[in-house]
Amino acid sequence: MQKTRALTQVLRFYNALGFERLPLCLPDTAAHSSDEKGEALERLRHHIGDCTRCRLSEKRTNVVFGEGNPDAELMFIGEGPGRDEDIQARPFVGEAGRLLTRLIERMGFRREDVYIANIVKCRPPGNRDPQDEEIIACIPFLKKQISIIAPKVIMSLGRVSAQTLLGSKTPISRLRGRFSRFDDIDLMPTFHPAYLLRNPKDKMLVWGDAIKVLEKLGREAP
Ligand code: SF4
Repeated sequence: MQKTRALTQVLRFYNALGFERLPLCLPDTAAHSSDEKGEALERLRHHIGDCTRCRLSEKRTNVVFGEGNPDAELMFIGEGPGRDEDIQARPFVGEAGRLLTRLIERMGFRREDVYIANIVKCRPPGNRDPQDEEIIACIPFLKKQISIIAPKVIMSLGRVSAQTLLGSKTPISRLRGRFSRFDDIDLMPTFHPAYLLRNPKDKMLVWGDAIKVLEKLGREAP
């Protein structure tokens, strides 16, 4: 009887949040070594499959899961795939992606040393912002990825990523440049590379954010 009451409370809770069905039951992904983490990420990718949990599935070409070192100490999280990413099923491979790769290399990493993912895994049509219900549907996948990889630091890229991870409506111009916490992980919000393509003068601000990340990781800026 107690269990039934508890289940009713859970259902009411999710209904109040606007869910029409219960959030996913994700696979068990306890992992410690790099190999175990890689296998756990594979299981998660398999679980996502050809996901249709939100309407972004209707116009996407590919689910863009994310890529990189399963045991990365540094993780970059953008907003969602763009046109090139949707076609190639890889995150940050267009013009903004090339700028992100340059930042990663300037920080002294190779792209394959870090892990790169997005808040939503399917391309919002016309590169619009992902909507709340799409983020709510997709975010459990990213949270699971983060818990598997367990990075030391996350750099979030752009407004949507920072505001989603921090549960905040504060503008990115005020969030960026100082550390916050996400699930006990240090989180540095910074500008999105696509913004930097339009506002190259702000690259220096992002580099300043990157230097703080390197310090937090105990690395010297190259
Ligand atoms: Fe599924 Fe996420 Fe794609 Fe929506 S954006 S269809 S929840 S993988």
